[in-house]
Amino acid sequence: MSTPKVWAQPGWHDYLAARNSRLPCLPAVTKLSEEVVRIMGGNPGDMQMQGTNTYLVGSGEARILIDTGQGFPIWLTTLVDFLQQHQLRISHVLLTHWHPDHTGGLPALLAQYPHLTNSVSKAHPDRGQTSIHDGQLFTTEGATLRALFTPGHSMDHMCFVLEETGAMFTGDNILGHGNSVVVENLGRYMKSLDVMRENVHSAAIEVGYPGHGAVIEDLPSKVTVYTRHWETREKMVTSVFLGANTTKKSFLTTREITAHLYGPAMDAMAGPFIAQVLSKLAEEGKVSFIVLAQEKKWFLLRN
Ligand SMILES: [Zn+2]
Repeated sequence: MSTPKVWAQPGWHDYLAARNSRLPCLPAVTKLSEEVVRIMGGNPGDMQMQGTNTYLVGSGEARILIDTGQGFPIWLTTLVDFLQQHQLRISHVLLTHWHPDHTGGLPALLAQYPHLTNSVSKAHPDRGQTSIHDGQLFTTEGATLRALFTPGHSMDHMCFVLEETGAMFTGDNILGHGNSVVVENLGRYMKSLDVMRENVHSAAIEVGYPGHGAVIEDLPSKVTVYTRHWETREKMVTSVFLGANTTKKSFLTTREITAHLYGPAMDAMAGPFIAQVLSKLAEEGKVSFIVLAQEKKWFLLRN
């Protein structure tokens, strides 16, 4: 997670701190299956829940590493200790997306293991990295990872399907706790949820390994919950326009729509989400706006 604009709104810190206090504790290192070991980034926080999850994937001596945490030294120390203890090495580094809590550990990792310099992949690569394209396979002993381009939370977001066991590394698209994530582009994100749902069904995937939070034991239903959450928000916004009188067009600011739905006190917390829904509806030609007295006034074109 890394979209500070929304989370910086008043009220969110208290809400997230209360939510995080109820989360299960995740050990620094956990063997989740024969092919998957989770190493925590050591960066718990409002947005990061128990911290960023990073994963070593494979069953042989060479493992693929998914994500690198935020750059806290404890992550690298824990990773290096684990690799040494089990006489393992990293063959390749895959990054789910560019956000700093997933890529921040990369410089220290490459300083520790210079041989990995040319073995780092991200959908939109930085200098020295290679790109990842949809459907690309990454293999090591015991694991084949298939890349799934799923933008929206960030525009470079990738999930990875573990073909052998029917699991999916979901990055920040679906988390281990809660029912939604902050997104950069809601329309793209909801299409990505559809892509994830299709793959979950076609590959009979049950388990999700998220970028934050505990293992998702029932990924198919979690994908549905996330989709419904945004669909409901969309319907609520449309319903405000329709109101009691469907024959008259309403012109409403984002603030007014938010106040209709949640009350005026919730503007700072809920406003950014309503703005995302309005942007999606505008891209789909369902709403538009005029600017009056320097304020956007939204109106419904069709529903
Ligand atoms: Zn994240």
